[in-house]
Amino acid sequence: MLNRRRFLQSSFLGSSSLLVNKYKFGELSSQGPIVLSTWSPNVKANAAAWTVLEKNGRALDAVEKGVRVTEADPSDQSVGYGGLPDRDGKVTLDACVMDENGNCGAVFALENIMHPVSVARLVMEKTPHVQLTGEGALRFALSQGFKKENLLTTESEKAWREWLKTSHYDPMITVDNIEEEINKQKPKEVKGQINNHDTIGMLAIDAAGNLSGACSTSGMAYKMSGRVGDSPIIGAGLFVDNEVGAATSTGVGEEVIKICGSHTVVELMRQGLSPEEACKKAVERIVKRNGINAKTIQVGFIALNKKGEYGGYSIMKKFDYGVRSFQGEKVYNAKSIY
Ligand code: ASP
Repeated sequence: MLNRRRFLQSSFLGSSSLLVNKYKFGELSSQGPIVLSTWSPNVKANAAAWTVLEKNGRALDAVEKGVRVTEADPSDQSVGYGGLPDRDGKVTLDACVMDENGNCGAVFALENIMHPVSVARLVMEKTPHVQLTGEGALRFALSQGFKKENLLTTESEKAWREWLKTSHYDPMITVDNIEEEINKQKPKEVKGQINNHDTIGMLAIDAAGNLSGACSTSGMAYKMSGRVGDSPIIGAGLFVDNEVGAATSTGVGEEVIKICGSHTVVELMRQGLSPEEACKKAVERIVKRNGINAKTIQVGFIALNKKGEYGGYSIMKKFDYGVRSFQGEKVYNAKSIY
């Protein structure tokens, strides 16, 4: 309690350098601002979010700023600009945000807008609704001053044209030695491509101790037109309860939706589980539902609780996540079932 009070006092003074020094000398616990996001390449997004948090900014502003970095990065083929298209060659983006007051906003299947996370925030702040889809979401974005842009890069178009040769749909998973994993138990069907980063889900706690989160994706590569996964669905791809904690997910969205994944993780934390234990239990539910075929699915969760503790867990190995705080930048390989 004393640590918490001291931390709030120093926040009130508004000096981030003071906070840094206090942390350095170990006077405070890990209760200061923290941001974490799915997949290690997103440490650059965490760094952008951190510029807000270290100045005692609001967690919601931090996660929006962070996620925008990945959305604008053409080398990330799972989010925003450069995202792999659906089977018709269209880049359709899904995103959502949720703040410390339980307010939320989302866009589904938004086309030609670089920053769906910012549109989702405006859905939350400027409309009486939570979710806008497709054409309506685009019209709303344009009315708010967003510009239409071509989001299909040459590389992603090339990959799509290559895919068209077989048109075989495989949800991506992250295991290099998938054949080996699968041969061990012979599941019915093999679904898998190698990929090392996907959807960005980002969670933050700010200097005032408030939580927010955001999630953004281009969805599964070569999905059916109109397909929406977990990422923009509040309770599936993201959930924030400012009394308890926050969680977000990546991987095969259909499986996350079926267990209301992120909400489940937060509710498990409410029952007293640590973030890692809560993520593990949610992952185990997906594994149980899928039996032996779970070995062909990747889903990962990360979670952050009100105390500033965090963790992650995935079905398959090689799911990692980055964390930024006054203790610096860290990357963790999440524990996994397989
Ligand atoms: N969860 C995302 C979806 O199902 C995909 C991903 O994380 O790569 O759309």
